[in-house]
Amino acid sequence: MIYKRKSNRIKPVSILFIISMLVLFLAGTIYLISSNEENYMMPDRIRGAVVEASRFSSHGRINEMSSVAAPIAIPPFTREMHIAEITDTQYLKLVNRDLAITNHTCHTRLTTVWPDMNVSGVNVKLHETAFYAMGELFAHAQSSGINDLFIASGYRSHEDQSRLYVNMANSDYVMPPGHSEHQIGLAADILSGDGSSSMRGSAEAAWLRENAPDFGFILRYPEDRQHITGVPYEPWHFRYVGRLHAWYMGIHSFVLEEYIEYLKENDVIRTEFDGNIYYILYQTPHDGIIFVPENMNFWVSSANTGGYIVTTWR
Ligand SMILES: [Zn+2]
Repeated sequence: MIYKRKSNRIKPVSILFIISMLVLFLAGTIYLISSNEENYMMPDRIRGAVVEASRFSSHGRINEMSSVAAPIAIPPFTREMHIAEITDTQYLKLVNRDLAITNHTCHTRLTTVWPDMNVSGVNVKLHETAFYAMGELFAHAQSSGINDLFIASGYRSHEDQSRLYVNMANSDYVMPPGHSEHQIGLAADILSGDGSSSMRGSAEAAWLRENAPDFGFILRYPEDRQHITGVPYEPWHFRYVGRLHAWYMGIHSFVLEEYIEYLKENDVIRTEFDGNIYYILYQTPHDGIIFVPENMNFWVSSANTGGYIVTTWR
């Protein structure tokens, strides 16, 4: 019997078929990997980041800084959060001549400052967090030989601000009601001695400007930034933003307006501070949703610009 062996030769059609299958398989794998990566990060958001490394001298001040734009491993900002669920710390809330607070009822926890922090006899209140930070700043001042500081003004209600605005008509220093940081309880006017001096050029003002950031406060209206802040130099007015942001703004020489703009322009900021790695991310909500990290510490502050800033660390 003649047995015709089946040819082992593979037909060109089969080769084509195998190649197409391989191409499809590879394309599928690449798609799966890339879509996973996209899920891992926040869609359409993170393309690169400002990565900073910092070194501190023995007394905790920065003495070297490098900054590069580079792709980095971002913690997964995968948890959706509706803005209605956010506990808004307000620490980075921009309140100025252009941006008013929208809610005139203060919901922050206010604390009356200790009598020795306020010799003026007025009942001064601050946001609880700013109050504790201010207590530490005052203790540090005392240990540095600066004993006569006091808080002349802290939290102001809408009515307080309205009254002040009317009484100080045409003053560049007093904001219209709704436009003062004092109304969120995170600003304090610090004076010294009997309060009659403006602090301008004083050793106390220089000391405060230098040391307040270590306790989370920034000099809000520096001498050279009136064109940005809209307010003349106020050596007495300090605003709580938290230690990380006060430090960050200090090394970049930003006022709050510039800092918010900087955060808006950058996708994410990664920075080392005090032994932790921080990620700072400005987000504009879509359908009322922003993204926060899974299983990490974070806090959120509205910027009052339509966006929210998430500060997260590990
Ligand atoms: Zn003030």
